[in-house]
Amino acid sequence: MRVRELVWRVSADAPAYRTRTTAVELAVMSAENTSTLQVCRSCGGGAPIDVHFCPKCTKILALGRHGDYFSYFGLRRKLTIDGAELEQRFRTLSRQFHPDYFYNASPVERRASLERSSYLNDAYRTLRHPIARVEYLLQLEGMPAGGNADGGKHVPASLLEEVFALNEELDEIRELRAGGTSPDAWRPRLERARVPIEARRAAHETELQDLAARWDALIDRRADVGERRTVLEALRERMLERNYINNLLAGIERELAA
Ligand SMILES: [Zn+2]
Repeated sequence: MRVRELVWRVSADAPAYRTRTTAVELAVMSAENTSTLQVCRSCGGGAPIDVHFCPKCTKILALGRHGDYFSYFGLRRKLTIDGAELEQRFRTLSRQFHPDYFYNASPVERRASLERSSYLNDAYRTLRHPIARVEYLLQLEGMPAGGNADGGKHVPASLLEEVFALNEELDEIRELRAGGTSPDAWRPRLERARVPIEARRAAHETELQDLAARWDALIDRRADVGERRTVLEALRERMLERNYINNLLAGIERELAA
């Protein structure tokens, strides 16, 4: 891995090399992304990938080549983010990129200010929410948890027991309802059926927080790809389970509202 990183860094300036970002490159970038460069369209000078203004001519840089939401904010790829600090950085960058400041600037700079403002908003919206942050990290690391490839039909192994019990209970409740039984009889049962699922959701939040802390520790000590992958896989598993649990709870809500 070390050698490959080195080779990639050396060749990072060759534009042909940068047409597509592979998972390996992303992994390398996650380890270290200060070594890559972007080119200033105003003066032609080079600038580190994560700066917003040209170090040479101070003009705003076009958003051609950039890192990711984390590096955009000058943050490392960690899951624990101080909300107040993030907001502070957002406000500062927001002011710096504001299109009003570029009213009389060149078209290239005006466009750059719009692009940087828009990307900043997307980045902030994503990073400020802990769950969206985890989803984004997984996507960035080439392991997206969304999309539900199997349409959410596959029951996560760790939830089999709860899902089985819940489905049995729901079947019985539906039968009662179909038979014209008063809501006073089945509603409390439905409410009770929700309790163990909600307990799982609470347990999940804790597990996610623990995994996030483990991930951050790996980033701090610059752990290798293998170690990071183990935690990412666990995170991905939790996210899929989380989606499943939320769907179950939404299903119960629908039954209650019906
Ligand atoms: Zn420049």
